[in-house]
Amino acid sequence: MTGEPFQSGPLGPGSTIGIIGGGQLGRMTAIAARQMGYRIAVLDPDAASPCAQVADQVVQASYDDRDAARELARISDVLTYEFENVDPDAAEAAGEITRLWPSGSVLRTAQNRVLEKGALNRHGLPTADYRSIETLDEYLAALKDLGGPWVLKTATSGYDGKGQIVIQEADDGDAFRELEGRSPALILERFVPFKLEMSVICARNAAGQMVTFPPSENAHENSILDTSIVPARIEPHVAERAADVARSVAEALDVRGLISVEMFLTQDDEVLINELAPRPHNSGHYTIEGCLTSQFEQLVRILCGLPMGSVELPQPTVMVNLLGDVWEDADGRPDWGDALSVPGTSLHLYGKAEARVGRKMGHITAVADSVEKALHRAELARKKARRA
Ligand code: AMP
Repeated sequence: MTGEPFQSGPLGPGSTIGIIGGGQLGRMTAIAARQMGYRIAVLDPDAASPCAQVADQVVQASYDDRDAARELARISDVLTYEFENVDPDAAEAAGEITRLWPSGSVLRTAQNRVLEKGALNRHGLPTADYRSIETLDEYLAALKDLGGPWVLKTATSGYDGKGQIVIQEADDGDAFRELEGRSPALILERFVPFKLEMSVICARNAAGQMVTFPPSENAHENSILDTSIVPARIEPHVAERAADVARSVAEALDVRGLISVEMFLTQDDEVLINELAPRPHNSGHYTIEGCLTSQFEQLVRILCGLPMGSVELPQPTVMVNLLGDVWEDADGRPDWGDALSVPGTSLHLYGKAEARVGRKMGHITAVADSVEKALHRAELARKKARRA
């Protein structure tokens, strides 16, 4: 496409930001937007979704309903999406009416691991070695070719470790048969024996200016993010490399908005990209209390053509997720009073009615004058919420 089809120039307060997807990422974006006087319209099948609860207007429809996406576009001045598994055709149909940032093509790339890794490698950006797999023969050949251990994943629709199998010993097709048919293709990756996992969120505006939030050191439990520690406990040159990689990704994909880049740090301090998300990210929740501008406010600023804000981190900050498991441990009644008695902690709950094991229900953030203290505070607060 040549030129910009939509009018440029800042959108003033009172304008409406349309969000495709009504989860917690949309909710926190909406809260940041409303703080600045913007209105929110959201498209989601659930009329009481976390974002709908704080939105001005709700379009209740499935993510592949193009007419509904167009309706959202008509009542919005700018559009964005808050998770990858929205239908790109519907998003692009909406994007023909009102500008959609990041673009539909960024969405298409990020929702398919094969396209994503292909695009990264074409731009010289490092990932684990991988093969795209469609048949049993391709799977068996790729096992030999890559050398194990391996991780087999669905190319699309996977998140939080769903649709993934770690393979220690070459099999004769069991893992392939388990995932076959769950997505148009599978991807076999070399298992990376990483030193740690980290992520960097890069914010890029329409003029191509970029800022990167401080790298977050991420610990996962059962493939779901559990803890984000900032500053990450890495050498300064590794932090610079991680920020560099995130900026290169944002430029390569021509992102307008946020791109979250999850990375592995290998035993020899090499940075490999694991996954991209063109939206706010769970590992960036720490920015609400931790940074002068949160990831959510930064997105709102970019969508509305305002200057980007400072990403300075005045104090070490740690975020711990609250999964439904906390409710189970606390017999359905977590003790928020006891949790918040820990100094420097803040509670975020997403308004989800049913607490299921493994479901992201909220998070706790702790700030302190050292990383160790912030980590201790966050973990203690969560333990107290569990009544443990
Ligand atoms: P993903 O859904 O790709 O983000 O994977 C979820 C988690 O599984 C990651 O955060 C890692 O902890 C682990 N994982 C995924 N791919 C690999 C890999 N190639 N090597 C080692 N661990 C992996």
